[in-house]
Amino acid sequence: MNPVAAALDRLNNLLGPTGARLVAVSKYQSDERVIMAYEAGQRIFAENRVQELLAKKARFPSDIEWHFIGHLQSNKVRMLLPAVGLIHSVDSPALLEQINHESLRMGLQTNVLLQVHIAQEEHKFGLKAPEVLPLLNRCAEGAFEGVRVGGLMGMASLCHDDLQIGGEFSGLSTLFNEAKSRFGARLPDFNELSMGMSGDYALALQHGSTLVRMGSALFEADALHS
Ligand SMILES: *Cc1c(COP(=O)(O)O)cnc(C)c1O
Repeated sequence: MNPVAAALDRLNNLLGPTGARLVAVSKYQSDERVIMAYEAGQRIFAENRVQELLAKKARFPSDIEWHFIGHLQSNKVRMLLPAVGLIHSVDSPALLEQINHESLRMGLQTNVLLQVHIAQEEHKFGLKAPEVLPLLNRCAEGAFEGVRVGGLMGMASLCHDDLQIGGEFSGLSTLFNEAKSRFGARLPDFNELSMGMSGDYALALQHGSTLVRMGSALFEADALHS
C-alpha cells in the first residue's frame, strides 16, 4: 500500500465510529499524492486558493467534490461558485450577502459554513461568536435564498495546549448546538461542524466535529513518521 493510502486507511478507521467525514486538504501536495488518495477512495478535497481549486478541478477526476477553506476575496466569488461543493470559510456578513447575490444571479444554491473566530490569534479570519446567531436568524427568515447554510467552521489556536484547544472547540460546539436547536427546523441543512486539522483532530472529534480538514497527516504521514 502506498503511504497516502495507508494514512487514509488509518484515518478512516479512526473516523468510522464517530461518523465524521474526512476533507483531504490538497494544497501544496503533488498531483501524484492527490491521485493516491483518490485511488484509495477519497472523494472530498479542499483548497484555500480559488485559482488552485479551479486548476485542480480541471485536471482531476470529475467525481471529486471540491471544498473551499481559505479567506475568499470578493473578486473571486463569481469564479468559485460554479466549481465548489462547500465553502467552509464564510467569515463576514458581507461575504455571505455577496455569495447569495451571485448565486441567485447564476441560478445556483451554494453550500456554505459560517467560519467563527475561536483562536487567540487576532489575525485569523472569522465571525465573532456574538455575530453568529443574529446572522443565522436572518438566514432562517429567508434573507439568503441563494445559499444553504450547512453549519459552522472554526480553527483553534496554533499551540500545543490541549486545554486551550479543547476549550475553543468546546465553545464552538456549544454555539453550534445552540444554533441548531434555535434554527434547525428552518435551516434543515444545518448539520456540519467543521473543526480539526492534522494537529488537533482528536480533540475536535471529542467535541463533536463532523468534518475534519486534514493535509499533512494524510499526505505527509510517511515524512512525519520517518
Ligand atoms: C491547510 C489547512 C488545513 C490542513 O492543515 P494540516 O495541518 O496540514 O492538516 C485545514 N484547514 C485549513 C483552513 C487550512 O488552511
